[in-house]
Amino acid sequence: MQQSPVAIVGGGPVGLMLALFLDRHGVRSVVFNTEPSVRVHPKGSTHNSRTMEHYRRLGFAPRVRALGLPPDHPTDSVYMTGFQGHELARLRMPSEREKMAQVAASPVDDQVPEPIHRANQMYVEQVLFAQAAARPNITLRYGWQVTAVAQDADGVSLTAESEDGNTGRSREAWRAAYVAGCDGGRSFVRRSLGVAYEGHAALDQPFFGQNMVSTYIRTPALYGSIVGPRQRAWQYWFVNPRFRTAMVALNGDDEFIIWTRRAGPDAPIDDRAIARMLCDAAGADIPVEIVAHGVWTGGVALHAEGFGEGRIWLAGDAIHLFTPTGGFGMNTGIDDVANLAWKLAAMVQGWGGPALLASYAGERKPIAVRNTAASRALAKNVGDVPVPAELEDDSAAGATARRSVGAFLSTFGEEFASIGVQLGARYDGSPIVAEDGTPPADDFVRYRPSGVPGGRAPHLWCEAGRGPGDSLFDRFGVGFTLLRFGAESGGALIAGAAARGIPLTVLDVAQPQARALYGRDLALIRPDQHIAWRGDAAPADADALWARLTGFS
Ligand SMILES: Cc1cc2nc3c(=O)[nH]c(=O)nc-3n(C[C@H](O)[C@H](O)[C@H](O)COP(=O)(O)OP(=O)(O)OC[C@H]3O[C@@H](n4cnc5c(N)ncnc54)[C@H](O)[C@@H]3O)c2cc1C
Repeated sequence: MQQSPVAIVGGGPVGLMLALFLDRHGVRSVVFNTEPSVRVHPKGSTHNSRTMEHYRRLGFAPRVRALGLPPDHPTDSVYMTGFQGHELARLRMPSEREKMAQVAASPVDDQVPEPIHRANQMYVEQVLFAQAAARPNITLRYGWQVTAVAQDADGVSLTAESEDGNTGRSREAWRAAYVAGCDGGRSFVRRSLGVAYEGHAALDQPFFGQNMVSTYIRTPALYGSIVGPRQRAWQYWFVNPRFRTAMVALNGDDEFIIWTRRAGPDAPIDDRAIARMLCDAAGADIPVEIVAHGVWTGGVALHAEGFGEGRIWLAGDAIHLFTPTGGFGMNTGIDDVANLAWKLAAMVQGWGGPALLASYAGERKPIAVRNTAASRALAKNVGDVPVPAELEDDSAAGATARRSVGAFLSTFGEEFASIGVQLGARYDGSPIVAEDGTPPADDFVRYRPSGVPGGRAPHLWCEAGRGPGDSLFDRFGVGFTLLRFGAESGGALIAGAAARGIPLTVLDVAQPQARALYGRDLALIRPDQHIAWRGDAAPADADALWARLTGFS
């Protein structure tokens, strides 16, 4: 029987990120994944600001930024009747080069050190896989499906099976102290715990509702001869009386993903109809190679009743299913494992208490409910667009219809300006957070930095530069970080952490903006970059505080 402190079932983006976070804490893991390689079909393209901060923490944000669209390709979302028809609305968003120029010119207390990045999961997962493959702490078992999982008082037993064309079926037995089920929407691990989903099933609306298909296409002619540089965007929405569809540019050249709706869950997917629709949108008969299809359900907002128990915990699509509007699904999953990883590390390393893992569910379930609701509200907007019959007519009535639909579509900016969803997750009321003060109101489109414990630590640039090493976040330790903004030493906190074996980094921050942002002379930052406690002096009973923050009381 093979052993690992943590076994991760599912090697999608969430499972791989968990393995990489654990490795940063010095904890070994094994990752099982049914398919022999990472995804080869496009899925989501949005890596939001919080996810990019997590990539930064692990050291590969620049590698991710190099993927996807070329640096000068616009990332606009454009609504049109067709490429040769009328543009109805354009939501302008900066290209990669413009975003990084904004970062370079940003003030000391700017809150977005890592702007959102658009690059498809199928490209980014290759980077996550390569990072994981290079780490001796991570054992990758791709092509191995977990078929049994059972926990007892001392650990978890797993069986993994692999099908090899030459040798037939192989089987391995593993034993782990903890298991993470990151095995997607049909999660075998979740079902083994007897946990069901609750929430809202599909939305019944003409587009972005019910049975949707993502089709991966290659068509060099589109950018080659139809769509000029000034017309380019990241997302193209086609709105006309004949069809509704949307298309995402993947590599700024010949690869795209197109979303259509099919008649029912078992209705055949018609390649020719999809190719015809694209030619109609292009206004020309261009060659379209259909590479593959993926199916998904529009309008779902589901979360698991429970997020795990004992030694088995769940993350990502295994505990929440989103409709893709807003691009929150994978991002929420990656933020789940930022929370789970340090708690698993604390348990493995002996500085986490009996209540620590339960706090994972208490902190992350409200975020799953909040974020799935935000996506569903946005999906309803998209599905509700009115399409007058005269929309494409060259007449006064047509022009009026286009103005009116364009004005409606121009209000869709929230889908792309969801910085409050991205950075504003808070763990107020958590038993392992020392509450102090009134948290800012939750706002999906605005992020308000706050020193009130529970939220993401407010960001600061520590140096004149804006590159790697210049962000306050780059200086946080792997474990907890004690930020000192004045003369107070926080000695009792430092001694208390040492006595309990809690990894702690002490960081003096001189910028006057820091004290203003955090509101006290001292702040304790958790390994997931959320504030755990703040004060003007170490508490009288520092040990009791540490016991609380690490799940012992
Ligand atoms: C059209 C579309 C667009 C989207 N756009 C975005 C976006 O822009 N931004 C965003 O954040 N999210 C987006 N999403 C959602 C995102 O794709 C998912 O949330 C994300 O893939 C979930 O990651 P995961 O690792 O939890 O699960 P998955 O990616 O599903 O990975 C789970 C892995 O577990 C493996 N597995 C399953 N069972 C077992 C087993 N028994 N043993 C071993 N391995 C197993 C599977 O093989 C799979 O590789 C989109 C989704 C769709 C459909």
